[in-house]
Amino acid sequence: MPQQIKWYEKYPKLFKEIQEDLKSSYKTLLFQKENDNYSVIGFLIIEDPFQKELGRYNIKMTFTENFPREMPKIFEISNKIPCTQDRHKYLTNECCLCLPDEVFFYIEKDYTIIDFIEKIVKPYFLWQLYFDLNSGVSIFKHRGHGESGIIEFYKEKLKTDNINDILRFLKDAQKFEIKGYLKCYCGSDKKIKKCCRENISDLKNRIQIETIKKSYESLYKNFNK
Ligand SMILES: [Zn+2]
Ligand SMILES: [Zn+2]
Repeated sequence: MPQQIKWYEKYPKLFKEIQEDLKSSYKTLLFQKENDNYSVIGFLIIEDPFQKELGRYNIKMTFTENFPREMPKIFEISNKIPCTQDRHKYLTNECCLCLPDEVFFYIEKDYTIIDFIEKIVKPYFLWQLYFDLNSGVSIFKHRGHGESGIIEFYKEKLKTDNINDILRFLKDAQKFEIKGYLKCYCGSDKKIKKCCRENISDLKNRIQIETIKKSYESLYKNFNK
């Protein structure tokens, strides 16, 4: 079997930057080698805007073979957060940080590890802290878990309430280009090129094709019986 090239071999510059960024900005997070991959382990400290510590979580960060196209995974291993759907945490301790479809609305595609921690990871844990403090009442807007989150996101982005428009977009978006003469996904009955063209091409550009496929499959199963 051919040996797969590891992400850190493929992107040596990024690999070095991650190590340096962690060292300089997150002293409680340590980079370590584990088997033939790297991971990050330690405490993530959540602070208020005046650098007062609000809480800390013992976490582990791992990198998938599709990193950086796929963001790192975070596991909360101090078990402060229950593994339930409403807390966006899986039974494996993995945190459901953000809807994959939505990630690149928060960070650029060439994100640094600092962007990832500050804009994706810390907001997740801040939300968890507030959840515990206010018994589930949150000042932060957040999405439902799994399918309900996918539907919410696409309803908002495509400006439609119709699940069929969402399915149609997810199907068309798997192709190279979305044809402008098709009926728009917002339900206006106009052609895309005369309606939400810019919005739709921006949306398509920000979502990885694998993610679009996954979302399509998970919605299709349930809504196309
Ligand atoms: Zn979730
Ligand atoms: Zn439209």
